[in-house]
Amino acid sequence: MSVGNDGTDRVAEASATAPGRVLVVGASAAGLATVEALRRKGYEGAITVLGDEPHAPYDRPPLSKQVLSGAWEPGRAALRTAAALTALDAAFVLGDAAVGLDTATRTVRTRAGRELTADAVVIATGVRPRTLPGSAGLWGVHVLRSLDDALALRAALVPTARLVVVGEGVLGSEIAATARTLGLDVTLAGPLDAPMALQVGPVVSAALAGLHRENGVRLRFGAGVAGVTGTAGVAGTAGEHGRVTGVRLAGGEVLPADVVVVAIGAVPATEWLADSGLGLDNGVVCDSRCRAADGIYAVGDVARFHHEHLGRAVRLENRTNATEQAAAVAGTILGEDRPYVPVPYFWTDQFDAKLQIHGVIPAGAEIEVVEGDLAARRFVARFTHAGAVTGVLGWNMPKQTRLRRQDVVDAFPVTALAH
Ligand SMILES: Cc1cc2nc3c(=O)[nH]c(=O)nc-3n(C[C@H](O)[C@H](O)[C@H](O)COP(=O)(O)OP(=O)(O)OC[C@H]3O[C@@H](n4cnc5c(N)ncnc54)[C@H](O)[C@@H]3O)c2cc1C
Repeated sequence: MSVGNDGTDRVAEASATAPGRVLVVGASAAGLATVEALRRKGYEGAITVLGDEPHAPYDRPPLSKQVLSGAWEPGRAALRTAAALTALDAAFVLGDAAVGLDTATRTVRTRAGRELTADAVVIATGVRPRTLPGSAGLWGVHVLRSLDDALALRAALVPTARLVVVGEGVLGSEIAATARTLGLDVTLAGPLDAPMALQVGPVVSAALAGLHRENGVRLRFGAGVAGVTGTAGVAGTAGEHGRVTGVRLAGGEVLPADVVVVAIGAVPATEWLADSGLGLDNGVVCDSRCRAADGIYAVGDVARFHHEHLGRAVRLENRTNATEQAAAVAGTILGEDRPYVPVPYFWTDQFDAKLQIHGVIPAGAEIEVVEGDLAARRFVARFTHAGAVTGVLGWNMPKQTRLRRQDVVDAFPVTALAH
């Protein structure tokens, strides 16, 4: 028996409704945080964590920053030490993928032939990167989601290489910045007018475009990408798949490239749930308690939950959500009955800029700089839509940004944030 920090008897609380066995599928940020939250809340039952990657849980944000640049050795991205994982008293089954779920019996089948049955199953399988048609198997074409992806890309980023990053969203913009600091010839390409235009609105994305341009990134915006070009492969040799030579834009123009990174978004990793009967619609469809079916829950990037304050289904692909939603799911498993109503938050690091975004910035939102100076690239901006504050964005002003988050919180419960 253990006693919580506030003096309450946590085990007694948890055991009244707690399931005997919990199975978490997906051994990354959200899966690990679920296990930690269960233990923190006093759950003492059996926990199994199934992950398809061979690695112990590691963090993804450093992959496009410190790991890609070489500033960190890969081991630094580990989320916990071996001792901390052992202390969780959970069985980690790594290097084996879930291939099916029987919802009625809560049994997960794995690629290696295991059958894992539990009283509560938590789906934490995240997302997988979209790829460009025709690029499969071509040497020099990369995506960036996993540690292995980051190491393969890092090995390809030699200073003489011409890199084209396809996709001007958060990930593509970060990769372009990191590669440029390594001295590569970098082109960032995509259909919008500026980096992260969809996430931060026209004023801040124009400032980001300026930052990239000043640092020597070539910007090729306003054109869709049709595919990649490459050499023909030679059957039976190491070069049998051919090598990428460029990126072809929709109008026919080809951007020459030795290395291409495709960063055009990601799709929820739900293929293994196709026959499960669960609602699958751009993620695992859940109620406001992150419950997909009786005894089955979803958490992190893969979960599409009903957000009661926003009044619609939401799927959040950010690191903070993985941890916060895990605490909510652990609570639901242990019998709490509280909706999950987060204020979305993400950050990005590009060159010397750290951007932090609380809430959302809908198309057409009005921007007002409330602290600092946009031209000096040190400011906090507040975004208003239909008369209500919907988001706060800070650029190299972390303390002030955190304080201003309250403006979003105050407006949050009464605002329908269309995105
Ligand atoms: C390169 C990169 C940089 C990022 N930078 C930022 C940032 O700066 N700020 C920010 O807020 N967010 C950032 N993110 C997003 C953040 O990392 C994610 O939101 C977070 O990792 C989500 O955690 P998750 O556990 O839900 O999913 P994931 O981290 O994707 O983990 C899911 C795990 O499940 C495994 N899996 C999938 N299918 C199966 C299966 N069938 N069986 C077993 N296991 C399976 C996957 O291999 C993976 O290990 C970044 C993401 C990436 C990729």
